[in-house]
Amino acid sequence: MKLYNSLTKKVEEFVPNEEGKVKMYTCGPTVYHFAHIGNLRSYLMEDVLEKLLRFSGYDVTRVMNITDVGHLSSDADTGEDKMLKGAKREHKTVMEIAKYYTDAFFSDCSKLNIKTPDVVEPATNCIPEFIHMIEVLLEKGYAYKAGENVYFDTSKLDNYYVFGNQNENELMVGVRDDVTEDENKRNKNDFVLWFTKSKFEDQALKWDSPWGVGYPGWHIECSCISMKHLGEYMDIHCGGVDNIFPHHTNEIAQSESYTGHKWCNYWFHVHHLNDETGKMSKSKGEFLTVSLLEQKGYDPIAYRFFTLQSHYRKPLVFSYEALDQAAQTYKKLKNRIASISDEGSVDENAKKEWHDKFVEVVGNDVNTAMGLTLIYDVIKSGLSGATKRAVIDDFDQVLGLKLLEADAADENGQETTPVDAELAARVEAKIEERTKAKKEKNFALADEIRAQLLEEGIVLIDTREGTKWEKK
Ligand code: AMP
Ligand code: ZN
Repeated sequence: MKLYNSLTKKVEEFVPNEEGKVKMYTCGPTVYHFAHIGNLRSYLMEDVLEKLLRFSGYDVTRVMNITDVGHLSSDADTGEDKMLKGAKREHKTVMEIAKYYTDAFFSDCSKLNIKTPDVVEPATNCIPEFIHMIEVLLEKGYAYKAGENVYFDTSKLDNYYVFGNQNENELMVGVRDDVTEDENKRNKNDFVLWFTKSKFEDQALKWDSPWGVGYPGWHIECSCISMKHLGEYMDIHCGGVDNIFPHHTNEIAQSESYTGHKWCNYWFHVHHLNDETGKMSKSKGEFLTVSLLEQKGYDPIAYRFFTLQSHYRKPLVFSYEALDQAAQTYKKLKNRIASISDEGSVDENAKKEWHDKFVEVVGNDVNTAMGLTLIYDVIKSGLSGATKRAVIDDFDQVLGLKLLEADAADENGQETTPVDAELAARVEAKIEERTKAKKEKNFALADEIRAQLLEEGIVLIDTREGTKWEKK
């Protein structure tokens, strides 16, 4: 398998520390609110990666934390405490909020067919582990006490900015004009390991520590929780791109200072899903959740299909028009698969060949779009119906699109239109050809394609999100 590694900025051959085994870690949600579908894009792509590794024969152990303490509204230790904010908003206790939104998160994951990691650990379960790591960092001289908090001293590292290309000022994420900087920090990007001097008088969760009653900073949890379950060496660490700085940079700083050796070899970062106005938000604009999509009549798996159509390393723009298109294509694909008869026996050799092909193609840096194309190739192939179905079922272990499950509509005898599916595939290919022609300024060819389709009764409609079509 090949993976893009944010540390080296290259697509590399994936080689785990221990042959045949993969230790994988995912930064989990901050459970102060519902996850938006942007957050879930990251978890979807990480789910595909995990399933792909298993599909390729690896024995995977995956760990995820749940952030239920210590995460301030800016990732750089400033702003409000997110959990406290959630509790105030809903007149509940922090732990009630944490429980409610943890359950909601896994319910969304289940709707999107995202597997629950092997280990899920809330930060509040691991206070003794955090205290131990902070004690060692203090002993080794990587941390200092100031103003009753404990900080990590980033100047002690030769290469704090491991992900490179970072300009200190650019990286002062979340520091807004209305937030005063913490004067106790010796260096601008030093970060809190343990708070005792809380500026939040009503901080609900506090624990005793060698430095006084307080609570942990955000970053320490991922270093400790991963080491608790995976040991001092890890193969793949995942998160969204916004996690690169400061969160993952800080995780590496404290983990490697603690162990004295390299911690994790591959860093997998998923690019953002944005809405049409830009950054997706839980407080501004429409709060896009899985439940909202369901209320609007979308099958959550259609959203999964939508995200799989593009590469995880490209930003993706969400719009209802784009989701409509994806939902339509997904439905047609399912109908097409449903129309494949179960005749003949399964050709196990052919199935193995297609399995290997999938590993090669999708295993090239998690190329999910090519994985979808392979399904069409299988459908068009000369394999027996039974083999086609078996191969598609096999691919679906990774894609998770429930491709062979009948829809409620189909069970009622509606909407099973294999002829339509054939037509859709052909029209979509023509649309692609026309888009390419237009890009190359070959407008004569583009017009010809439109005219040809019109003769067949197919009308093309150009929209901002691309070309759609309908029957006359
Ligand atoms: P949070 O609950 O805020 O800690 O975020 C959970 C995960 O979602 C993290 O891995 C983030 O990097 C990721 N994330 C945040 N916003 C987006 C977005 N718009 N698109 C994709 N992933 C995101
Ligand atoms: Zn983390």
